[in-house]
Amino acid sequence: MGSIVLFGPPGAGKGTQAHRIMEHTGLPQVSTGDMLRAAVKAGTPVGLEAKGYMDRGELVPDAVILALIEDRIQEADAKNGVMFDGFPRTIPQAEALQTLTTITHVLAIEVPDERIVERICGRSTCGQCGAVYHDTFNPVPADGCACGNFQEKRRADDNENTVLNRLGAYHEQTAPLAAWYDERGLFHRVDGDRAIDEITHDLLGVLN
Ligand code: ADP
Ligand code: ADP
Repeated sequence: MGSIVLFGPPGAGKGTQAHRIMEHTGLPQVSTGDMLRAAVKAGTPVGLEAKGYMDRGELVPDAVILALIEDRIQEADAKNGVMFDGFPRTIPQAEALQTLTTITHVLAIEVPDERIVERICGRSTCGQCGAVYHDTFNPVPADGCACGNFQEKRRADDNENTVLNRLGAYHEQTAPLAAWYDERGLFHRVDGDRAIDEITHDLLGVLN
């Protein structure tokens, strides 16, 4: 076994697909964004350092991220690999990751820039179960979230200004990873500008 990387711009659908793929692979989702938000909420030293970067839509320094990942992949549930969501985001992060675990697939969800703002600005998640919704494209069912206890959460950084900064950071610092992983034969592209089910189908096809 080994680990999978879900790759793509903010709002590409990485979290949405991670939830679905998890049911098939059994690999736990490791989202650095979720880990950082938990650290900010808890007021830990990592959270205090990360908050300003996150509020501005800039990447948090590699050393902070790598310390989180090194701890996380030592946990018992990670022994057969994990599904990274939103990590790595820089070439130094990817280089460090190679020394920590085996990556079997990098699944790139491709979505054009002009779709990103509408996706991010309509996003909500369930604080109870982590399901990801969209006001227009994937609304909360009329009878509520499948977990039965919908607690709507919206992210402070899901506003138009910050999204444009996050997209800029993606193109400058993260997009070069596509060629880096392609050279290593690990990179698989899926068209993310389609229905959620169709994308899941193609991602599972790559994995099987
Ligand atoms: P990421 O984890 O890559 O930032 P999310 O999974 O949180 O992305 O998705 C961002 C927003 O776009 C959410 O509101 C989600 O419901 C919506 N979304 C995800 N996939 C699609 C899709 N294929 N078509 C339309 N909207 C989508
Ligand atoms: P999205 O994919 O929707 O942009 P995330 O939840 O993955 O959002 O990340 C939110 C913020 O957390 C990012 O804007 C960035 O500041 C920080 N972050 C998350 N993952 C990383 C990472 N691997 N490297 C640097 N910063 C990160």
